[in-house]
Amino acid sequence: MADLPGSEQRSEYSPKPRSRESIIASWKGRKSAIQAVPEYPHSGAQDFLSARLVFSIFVGAEEKYMSNVLEGRTAVVFGVANKRSIAWAIAQQMQHAGAQLAITYQNERLKQEADDLIAALPNSQAFQCDVSRDDEIARLFEQLKERYGKIDTLVHSVAFAPAEELKGEFAETSREGFRIALDVSVYSLVAVARAARPLMTDGGSIMTMTYYGAEKVVPKYNVMGVAKAALEASVRYLAYDLGKNNIRVNAISAGPIKTLAARGISGLGEMLKEHAERAPLKRNVDVNEVASIAVFLASGAANGITGETIYVDCGYNIMGF
Ligand code: NAD
Repeated sequence: MADLPGSEQRSEYSPKPRSRESIIASWKGRKSAIQAVPEYPHSGAQDFLSARLVFSIFVGAEEKYMSNVLEGRTAVVFGVANKRSIAWAIAQQMQHAGAQLAITYQNERLKQEADDLIAALPNSQAFQCDVSRDDEIARLFEQLKERYGKIDTLVHSVAFAPAEELKGEFAETSREGFRIALDVSVYSLVAVARAARPLMTDGGSIMTMTYYGAEKVVPKYNVMGVAKAALEASVRYLAYDLGKNNIRVNAISAGPIKTLAARGISGLGEMLKEHAERAPLKRNVDVNEVASIAVFLASGAANGITGETIYVDCGYNIMGF
């Protein structure tokens, strides 16, 4: 995915995978170098190189396939704060896949940065919406109805908990901190899914972002872990309710990525390090790897998937210790 927009967001914990072009060029080069040596016999090595080349071309073709899977579709993406936001990587890849986009940012404070980013993305328009406010959600969906008529995809990439709740013990969580975390990070999904339903007249795909702290204790993640557990349960209940409208609802459980929200968790550096050491793939996930699963979920290829939590975490969740 190194050639896709947003790849500059890679952190030092996520080694840069090579682009398909560079793989193809390099294997083409090696293959022709081998063929250019007359006494070099047809060998297992040559078969291996051919297989790699075919694989590379296949991957290239797959990317081409992914480049128009959302043609003619409209996606609403909530949660762009800056260029590091997971929502921004998703918006870019959905645009790359052919979708037109409505991208939302939270408030006036984030407007300038979000507007600048969104203005540079073709086929995209920026909207403001604080998801903790019913009036702003209602106004947004009126604007979306007027502008697009129908929508096909909704990405909910929004979460918040007061900073003091992500430091000490979960046992010290305040009533207000608990309320805010669950309101912004969970209830907002229910609210936007309900508002989107009448606009998804051809069915649709709704997705949200979750984290492993929903099911196992991640120290300092605290009330956000409880919120993510409620979010994953909400995904299942929404999937049941909206299934009759042919609307799918899923969650993507991403491994840790350095973003604005993640920086609010004390001990993020340790979390990233630990994750990269323990994950079967021995690295952290790249934001573009998360975004490509969002494109998949929005596409017809995922028509049979609803109510699921899909892990994009380099396999971390399968480990016992
Ligand atoms: P981010 O800070 O870029 O995105 C969080 C977004 O939530 C921001 O755009 C913020 O403006 C928005 N938001 C907060 N309160 C809001 C409100 N009241 N109304 C509207 N928007 C509001 O960070 P991110 O890491 O891209 O987070 C996106 C999602 O991914 C979150 O749900 C987060 O929990 C989840 N997630 C992140 C990681 C990670 O390691 N970064 C891992 C797994 C899941």
